[in-house]
Amino acid sequence: MIALKYTGKKMSYSMIYDLHSHTNFSDGLLDPTVLINRAITMGVGTLAITDHDTISAFKNIDIKNNHSIKIIPGVEFSTSWKKINVHILGLNLQLESAALKEGVNFQKEARSRRAIMIAEKLNDIGFKESLEGVFNIAKNENIGRPHFAQYLVNIGAVKNIDQAFRKYLGAGKPGDIKNLWADLPQIVEWIKEAGGTAVLAHPKKYRLTRTKLKDLLDDFIIAGGQAIEVISGNQNPEITQDLANLCLEKNLLASCGSDFHRPGEVWAELGHIPKLPSSCEPVWNNW
Ligand code: AMP
Ligand code: MN
Ligand code: MN
Ligand code: MN
Repeated sequence: MIALKYTGKKMSYSMIYDLHSHTNFSDGLLDPTVLINRAITMGVGTLAITDHDTISAFKNIDIKNNHSIKIIPGVEFSTSWKKINVHILGLNLQLESAALKEGVNFQKEARSRRAIMIAEKLNDIGFKESLEGVFNIAKNENIGRPHFAQYLVNIGAVKNIDQAFRKYLGAGKPGDIKNLWADLPQIVEWIKEAGGTAVLAHPKKYRLTRTKLKDLLDDFIIAGGQAIEVISGNQNPEITQDLANLCLEKNLLASCGSDFHRPGEVWAELGHIPKLPSSCEPVWNNW
């Protein structure tokens, strides 16, 4: 077990909640312990670690220990809704849950199959042996498109990660492979069976029309979804207000998180996020 900073006998956590973050067990840069210590430095009182489709980061963390920060076990599941890639956070999970284990195993299989398919597509357009390259970049088991993006940068095929997504990996491009993930109702079921809260991540990132976003929320609610991320990173106040209104309208709880992946991305530093509007009921009131 790796030691974490411990600041006193009687624990009282700061009021800053950051309920969305990534480690190097998915596409984040930092080791879980380094991530937690960075969150402490940033004044975060409650941190959810939510790697893409894996809970492996928790293998090396003793979440029950008296840290100066409260750690919430979480996951960010990938799914698709009407052929659009959508992310569902599971927060406050029981890590020993059989349903959760089944879920991450299913998604891990899907990720492996997808990695092979992406490599085949890249091969077809002239980038040979990307799978081997990607295995060298992704230190842990869970391969994602950002690892392919890094590979394309490394071999000089693109200038940066963003260009890799725009040309080869983003929506509608060869690396955008759909229909491999578990469907939305299944994802929500796994989360709820694990005692967790299902949260629609970053609702504005899907670039849906208002009608479509409401349709997605309705399907999510029918499946048992309970909350949306009203705050995702350092977003502007109009977006926050709009999502807070949707929360009220659809009777959903509200979550907030940085979606931190690595230091240096100023729009997504741990804990550096706006406060939830007072009209919102925070997701943690339920815990
Ligand atoms: P995957 O889960 O493998 O489909 O990869 C999705 C992840 O790629 C997201 O969680 C982001 O971290 C990252 N991502 C998506 N689009 C971009 C982009 N344009 N530039 C950089 N990273 C991106
Ligand atoms: Mn990511
Ligand atoms: Mn996401
Ligand atoms: Mn994320």
